[in-house]
Amino acid sequence: MAHEIASSKYKTLQSVQADLLSDKITCKDLVTYYLGRIEASKHLNAYVEVYESEALKYASELDEKFRTNPESVGKLFGMVIAIKDVICYANHEITAASKMLEGFTSLFSATAVENLLAADAIIIGRVNCDQFGMGSTNENSIYGAVKNAANENHVAGGSSGGSAVAVQADTCLAALGSDTGGSVRQPAAFCGTVGLKPTYGRVSRHGLIAYASSFDQIGVLTKSVSDAALILEVMAGTDEYDSTVSDIPVPTFSKSLDLKKKVKVAYYESALNHRSLDADIRQRTFELIDNLKKDGHEVEAVSFDLLDYLIPTYYVLTTAEASSNLSRFDGVRYGHRSPDATNFQETYLKSRTEGFSEEVKRRIMLGTFVLSSGYYDAYFTKAQQVRRMISERTRDIFEEYDFILMPTAPSTAFKIGDNLKDPVEMYLADIYTVQANLAGIPAISLPLSIHPNGLPFGVQFFADKFKEEHLLAFSQYVSEALIG
Ligand code: GLN
Repeated sequence: MAHEIASSKYKTLQSVQADLLSDKITCKDLVTYYLGRIEASKHLNAYVEVYESEALKYASELDEKFRTNPESVGKLFGMVIAIKDVICYANHEITAASKMLEGFTSLFSATAVENLLAADAIIIGRVNCDQFGMGSTNENSIYGAVKNAANENHVAGGSSGGSAVAVQADTCLAALGSDTGGSVRQPAAFCGTVGLKPTYGRVSRHGLIAYASSFDQIGVLTKSVSDAALILEVMAGTDEYDSTVSDIPVPTFSKSLDLKKKVKVAYYESALNHRSLDADIRQRTFELIDNLKKDGHEVEAVSFDLLDYLIPTYYVLTTAEASSNLSRFDGVRYGHRSPDATNFQETYLKSRTEGFSEEVKRRIMLGTFVLSSGYYDAYFTKAQQVRRMISERTRDIFEEYDFILMPTAPSTAFKIGDNLKDPVEMYLADIYTVQANLAGIPAISLPLSIHPNGLPFGVQFFADKFKEEHLLAFSQYVSEALIG
């Protein structure tokens, strides 16, 4: 018999599992509920494909498995999850929200997805994003913009906008995203969810469509820190298909969410006093700093004179890597092939011209330029050197402090259409997120408050490489004791 599920009842997998274990609900009820929510929020455009019958069938199988032997179900039993359209799922379409890959079916699953499935997660659908992960508004998608559930005239953020709204609109308990320069954290902040980007090398990138390989990480958007911890511990770990994954052991993050001692937090005066930062976000962030201090933590301003170099360094290096990564889309091996091409040269030219969006082409050209022989040293080499300085300065800060506190974004979600004209303006809004990717460190965005304009915003914490355990325990404490 089907049971009723109260709307937005579940914020954690723990509460889902409590109801599953006491027979209050079944996985089938859960999937039915979320499918109803997907239908009811269709206008937000978060999903590009819903795996309706598959998810229901799999849910019934899991219910049967549980009935037969309650001990046999995996850690993620009851976890209904959506995946961003840049993460491969075997025998399912994947397009990176681009015409270039329309109709393309993946032959294999990303390792992260394999790991989730092995732990009995249910994948409910594929969600919208900016094309190839390039963007901050989810407007750069062949499927159109995703709307923010808090105000439909505003964007979801990007590039994992579909992932954020899927969680915000309660159509699933969690969603996978990818974060090259903030794409998990910024939409999480815009939509009032938790967004976690792990350390570079914590989660395998096998099966993640590459944007900038030395920056990309798969991350997760959830309603709670505990679910982010649990999903990370399931997804992470070595993988023979990705040689950049670290063999540093993966802690059981979800079991060590107690903060054991007072911490030291740094923030940059230059970041909090930055001209682009919204006044209400600044004020609320300083209030949080005060509350941390009142609770016995040390919070100090440190100088970070590389703030203005973050965006240029990020955009030189990621576009360079993108121009190389995206050269595989040539209209020959897979993806869109122009029907009008009559020879080899034209196949490349027309297929790529037709297949990629303006923003993707802009970045391929920029990347090709900074790698070209006449400009290589002036741009690419220089940016590599600055990246090194950023990493070293970041490491120095972690010699003294446990965490760095940062707003997630300078503003709340933009109005749909407002940022289409000036790409540079858009790039500048990534100021607070890209340091974590440049330095390869873990970062989390927590929902901090609701702005007087009615839109949510977040606060971010960075930790040193592979210190997710401490970062998550601290985040759990901040969200429970100081934000709640
Ligand atoms: N907004 C950033 C960009 O457009 C971040 C993208 C990402 O993290 N995938 O590059």
